[in-house]
Amino acid sequence: METSAPLDIVIVGGGTAGWMVGTALVSGLRPHQARVRLVESDEIATVGVGEATIPAMRDYNRFVGIDEVEMMRETNGTFKLGIEFLDWGFKGSSYHHPFGVHGAAIGGAGFHHHWNRARLAGHDFDIEQFSYAIAAARDDRFEFPNPDPDKIDSTYSYAYHFDASLYAKYLRKVAEGRGLKRTEGKVVDVARDPLSGDVASITLVSGEVIRGDFFVDCTGFRGLLIGQTLNSPFEEWTDWLPCDRAWAVPCARADRFTPFTRSTAREAGWQWRIPLQHRTGNGYVYSSRYISDDEAAATLMANLDGEALAEPRQIRFKAGRRTASWTRNVMAAGLASGFLEPLESTSIYLVQIAVMNLLKLFPGKRVEPALVEEFNRRVDMEYDRVRDFLILHYHANTRTDGELWKHCREMEIPESLKHKLELFRHRGVAPNYHDGLFALPSWISVLLGQGVLPGGYDRMVDNVPLPQALAEMERQRSAIARRVPAMPTHADFVASHCAIP
Ligand code: FAD
Repeated sequence: METSAPLDIVIVGGGTAGWMVGTALVSGLRPHQARVRLVESDEIATVGVGEATIPAMRDYNRFVGIDEVEMMRETNGTFKLGIEFLDWGFKGSSYHHPFGVHGAAIGGAGFHHHWNRARLAGHDFDIEQFSYAIAAARDDRFEFPNPDPDKIDSTYSYAYHFDASLYAKYLRKVAEGRGLKRTEGKVVDVARDPLSGDVASITLVSGEVIRGDFFVDCTGFRGLLIGQTLNSPFEEWTDWLPCDRAWAVPCARADRFTPFTRSTAREAGWQWRIPLQHRTGNGYVYSSRYISDDEAAATLMANLDGEALAEPRQIRFKAGRRTASWTRNVMAAGLASGFLEPLESTSIYLVQIAVMNLLKLFPGKRVEPALVEEFNRRVDMEYDRVRDFLILHYHANTRTDGELWKHCREMEIPESLKHKLELFRHRGVAPNYHDGLFALPSWISVLLGQGVLPGGYDRMVDNVPLPQALAEMERQRSAIARRVPAMPTHADFVASHCAIP
C-alpha cells in the first residue's frame, strides 16, 4: 500500500536537464506529495551547449508557467521556424524542415499526395512554395501564428534558439521560488540499500549524507547513478550514427538574423549555425573515423559568418541510449539517459519527455515495476523514432565526397526505417505520430528534401480532378506569397518584443 508521506526526491546534476526536471517537479507536485532537492557541483562544468529547440518546448514552458518574453530576454533568445539543410542530399542541394505543414489537405487527401500526383503528371514545382513557415524563414520574417485556424498564417508553429546555460539559470530561479532546495557539492559516494538494491543515499565531498526515496540522475555523460552505480547498460548506435565529436564556437552576430537553424553537411559530418540575440552559435559535429580533430576545427573556423568570440571547444559523445533509463528508484534524464546528436534539436525535448512521463507515472515510496516498464517503453519509443529520423538524413544521400557519406549510404539501416522508406517510396505514406516525434510534415520535408520520391499517391487524391487540385494549390501558394511580405522581420520582431534590456 502506498503511504501518504511526501516522497523525498533527489536530483543529482544541475545542467539543463537537472533544472528542467526540478522545475517541472515542483510545478506539477504539491509539497504534501514530494520534497524536491537538487545537488550540483560547481567543480564539474555542464556540457555548455544546446541552443536550438523544437515547438514542443513551448508545452514545457506553459506547463511550468514561464513567461515567454521574460525567458527570451534572460536567455538571449530568438525565434525558430525550422531548420535549413544545406548540401545534405548532395552538394549544392538545400531544403527546409519547417515547423508547419506543406499545404493544407485537399478533399480529404494530404497535400503532398496532390503535389505528387501533379509532379507525376509533369507539373514540376517545388513543394516548399506551399509552406508558410519556409516562406517566412527564407525572408527572415517572424511573428506569432494567427490563432484563427482558417487563416493561411495559422499553418505553422515556432520554437526558440537560446543559451541553454542561461535557460538553466532562469529555471533555477523559478524552481527555488517554488520550494526546490538546492545544495552545492560534489557527490563522492552513492550507497545502496543492502536488501532492495535501491539507491539509498548520496554522500557529498563535505561529508553530508543526503537520503532519498527517489533519485533523478542528471549528471550528464557520467551517468553517476544510472550507469556507474546501477549499471544500466548503454545501447550504442554508432554504426548508424558515426559522429562522435563536436567543436563548438560562438561568433559575432551576422548581418543576416535568421529565424531558423542552419545545418550544413560537411565532408565528415555537419555544421550548425544558431542565431542568438548577441552572438551566433556554431559547431561542427563530426566522426573521428573520417577526419582529424585539427582538420575538423580548421573547417569550422574557416566557415563562420562572423568574428570568432572564443577558442573552439571540443565535446566527445557516443550515440545511443540506456536500455532502461528508469532502473529501480533512479530515473535518468538528459545526457545521463542517452545522446542523439543535435541534428534535429531533440535533446532538450527528450528531457521534457522524461520528466512529463515521470509525473504521469509518479511512483510511491515503493516503486511499482509496471510503472517503470511503461516509462521505459515510452522513452525508448521516443528515442528510437528520433534515431530513425536522424539516420534518414545520413542514409539518403548521393554525395560523392567523403567516406562518411559512402558508409551511411551503403550501411544496413534499422528494419523500422527500412519499412518507412519502402512505404514512402511506394505511395508517399509517411509516419504521422500524434503522440511524440516526428509528425508527417517533418518526415515529408526530409524525405523529399533528400531526394526520396514516391512512385504513387493516396487513392483519395483521385476524388478531386487534377485541374481543380492545381487551382487550389495555386490559391494556397499565392495566399502565402501575399501574406509573408507583410510580416515584420525577425530582427524587428525580436527588437520590439523581447530584446535584451
Ligand atoms: P550536463 O550539462 O553535463 O550537466 C551535468 C550536471 O551534473 C552538472 O551540473 C554537473 O555539475 C553535475 N554533476 C556531474 N557529476 C556530479 C557529481 N559527482 N556531483 C555533483 N554534481 C555532478 N540539445 C538540444 O536540445 N538542442 C541543441 O541544439 C543541442 N546541441 C548540442 C550540441 C552538442 C555538441 C551536444 C554535445 C549536446 C547538445 N544538446 C542539444 C544537448 C544538450 O546540451 C543537453 O541535452 C543538455 O544540456 C542537458 O545536459 P545535462 O544537463 O544532461 O548534462
